[in-house]
Amino acid sequence: KDVSKQFGTGDTAVTAVDHVSFSVGTGEIVLIMGPSGSGKTTLLSMMGGLLTPTSGQIQVNGTVITDLSHRQLARVRLQAMGFVFQSFNILQNLTALENVQLVGELSGLSPTTARERASQLLKKLHLEKRLHYLPAKLSGGQQQRIAIARALLNEPKLVLADEPTGNLDSKSGHEVMMLLHNIAKEDGRTVVIVSHDERIKDIADRVLWIEDGQIS
Ligand code: ADP
Ligand code: MG
Repeated sequence: KDVSKQFGTGDTAVTAVDHVSFSVGTGEIVLIMGPSGSGKTTLLSMMGGLLTPTSGQIQVNGTVITDLSHRQLARVRLQAMGFVFQSFNILQNLTALENVQLVGELSGLSPTTARERASQLLKKLHLEKRLHYLPAKLSGGQQQRIAIARALLNEPKLVLADEPTGNLDSKSGHEVMMLLHNIAKEDGRTVVIVSHDERIKDIADRVLWIEDGQIS
């Protein structure tokens, strides 16, 4: 609701997001598109509680996240949201399984339960033969699937993806796209994707166009 984000002050101030309001329904897939520097990442980061707006209010699953303390916000992020980034952001010195298991342990699952759940999820994403591989031994598409498994481990209501196919070849990009589609349409999660990738329009229920920090 009426969310803005300004970086810096005075002459160098940049308004990255400028009085934006919209809502996304449960199970909906929304694609946010717009030129480079238009405020897409800033907007998505605020929706995920990774960045605090300068003004305005953000509500996720009934909780006004802009009112929460850092500690409360960290909890909501861990339990209600999953993040997928262009650069995968998985830990290079942990195996596929360990990367995913870690998120379960952080949210309080026993190592055994977290491991079991991680392994089932990786299996579902066709990585059962790669559980004990380090990311460096895997393709970009496989690394992004680890990131998706990690994002899903705590069964989040909301999945946020920033250019998820940006570093992938077209076949892996298509796989990731179909996974995001299924996350919303089979599992009933809400999916918000920021992307330049025109193909993602095919799975989106709605496309929001952002330019100079404003949705048109
Ligand atoms: P997009 O993801 O659409 O390319 P961004 O949200 O990354 O756009 O950036 C929007 C604007 O905000 C750009 O002008 C960018 O330079 C600026 N910006 C983003 N993050 C920061 C930051 N941490 N400090 C200062 N300016 C920033
Ligand atoms: Mg960006």
